[in-house]
This record gives sequence, structure tokens and C-alpha cells, in this order.
Amino acid sequence: MKFKSADLLKHYRVDAPDRFALKSVDCGDTRAIDKDAAQSVLADDVKRLSDLQERLYAEDRWALLIVLQGMDAAGKDSVVAHVMSGVNPQGCAVHSFKAPSTEELDHNFLWRTTTRLPARGRIGIFNRSYYEDVLVVRVHRELLRRAKIPRTLISENIWQERFQDIRAFERHLARNGILVLKFFLHVSKEEQRRRLLDRLEEPAKRWKFSLDDINERKRWDDYMAAYEDMIRATSRPTGRWYVVPADHKWFTRLVVASAVIEALEGLGLAFPKVEGAALKEMHKVRAALLAKKPGKDR
Ligand code: AMP
Ligand code: MG
Repeated sequence: MKFKSADLLKHYRVDAPDRFALKSVDCGDTRAIDKDAAQSVLADDVKRLSDLQERLYAEDRWALLIVLQGMDAAGKDSVVAHVMSGVNPQGCAVHSFKAPSTEELDHNFLWRTTTRLPARGRIGIFNRSYYEDVLVVRVHRELLRRAKIPRTLISENIWQERFQDIRAFERHLARNGILVLKFFLHVSKEEQRRRLLDRLEEPAKRWKFSLDDINERKRWDDYMAAYEDMIRATSRPTGRWYVVPADHKWFTRLVVASAVIEALEGLGLAFPKVEGAALKEMHKVRAALLAKKPGKDR
């Protein structure tokens, strides 16, 4: 079955954040695309991405930041592994953000991610991000106290203030040529249950299981409310959210790959042209190299 990426993406990109409701996205959605067709499209996408990344690197002007958020077992690692599989590791870096260290807590909440932003020509992937500071920290308010912020600065408005800061931060990035794409991998509670059971039952997956996953799962509804509020407050032209159905991993990968390709294609990336005097010089050097074939020299 044929499908157009643009048609696919418009269902998941949050263009009207004020009216956005999480329940409008079905976690199990696949838009009636069949898995085999999707996998062949994904294979082409991976090649296309590799080509676009080479241009991005050669042009050395733009950078791309991909933010991945989602509950445990939503498939964040699998998106990184599959979607980026064709990309040259030299032009791409993945950073995972866990509970902050003492040093990180000694800084403003945007500090630890700021130091990991992609340089021009590069793709940076944040596996979790500064958004945790309006998610896990909001669900577990006691974490705010550990964050060493002066007490007088913690008010009821703190989440709105953080949303404001994040919007300003992403606008700043956009104005500097760092494109920000954000994905919430929307897995259902039932599919998460299955995946966590898998982690417990399969010896090769047990290392991935953490008791924390179960504790966070108990706060599911609080997380969904925090996600919805965050997406509404921070989906802007300079940092769009995509809410991606995540009960079928192949479909999640397809949507993420399409969005990344569409964004990079929108930049009109091209290999820098060598012209004029520089090109003449290159022709000269080429002629000289051709003339100096080993064996001929002697
Ligand atoms: P995982 O991605 O499964 O390795 O888990 C990382 C854990 O770190 C998740 O439970 C996150 O909620 C947690 N985490 C990430 N950022 C923060 C933060 N800023 N404050 C507290 N916990 C965090
Ligand atoms: Mg986990």
C-alpha cells in the first residue's frame, strides 16, 4: 500500500496545541499501513537519511536536535537504533539523561542538556531531555526540593515558568540554526505491561528492567496529565511536538523517520560548490597528480 509521508505526519504533528488532547491519538494506530510495506519504506528512509546527513555535515551550517520522550518501554532506544542505523556515527551523537547527578543539580535545569547540544552539521539525539524537569519532577514534586533552587523561587507557577523558559530556549536554538524535533512515543498502559513482562521473562532483556519502572507506572495518569499539559505549552513552530503511536514499534519508527526526513529536506541542503579560482586550482592539482603516477617519476 502506497502512502505519502506528509499525509502520515499531519495526523501526529501538534499544530494546534491549545486544542490538543492526548486521547485524540490512538496508541495502537497504524493508519491501515501494512507492516511489510512499512518496512520497505523504512529501509529506503534509512538510506535517504544517510544522504541528507552527509549534506548536513558538508554544509556545516544547520544542526538537528531530536528529542525523544516517553514512558519506560515506549521504544525510545529502538528508535535510536533503527532509524539512525544508516547514519555515519561521526555526524551523530546520542545522549541519555537519567536522574541528575549532584553536579547537575548544582546548576540551572537547562545546563546539563545545553552542554550536549549538537554542533553545526551534526545530528544530536536526546533520549529523555530537559522535559523530564516538567514531567518526573512535576509528578514527584519532592524532587524540586532536591534541586537546590532557592525556596522563594518555587511558586505554584513554576511549571508555567519552566514552559516559558523552554519555549524561549528552543526559539533561541531555532534562531541559531538548530532545528528541534520532539517526539512523544505514546505507548498504552496495556502494551507497557506486556513489554515489562517481556523484560522480566526473557533473560536477555532482564537487565533493562528496573523496579522504578513499576513505581512510575503506578503514577500513569499523573504522567499523562503532565505530558498533555507540556505538549500544549511547548509545541511551537520553533519546536514542534509529534505524538507518535507507540504500540507497534515498526510504525513508531516509520513516523519518526518520515518527520526527520521531511525536516531535513525542508532545509534544501546541498554540497558546497567549488567554483572560480578554487576550482581552477583543483584542476591544476588534479593534472599534477595524474602526471605523477608512481613509476613514471623515476
Ligand atoms: P531510563 O531512561 O529507563 O534509563 O530511566 C532514566 C530515569 O531517569 C527515568 O526514570 C527518568 O524519569 C529519570 N530522570 C531523567 N531526568 C530526570 C530529572 N531531571 N529528574 C529526575 N529524574 C530524572
Ligand atoms: Mg527505564
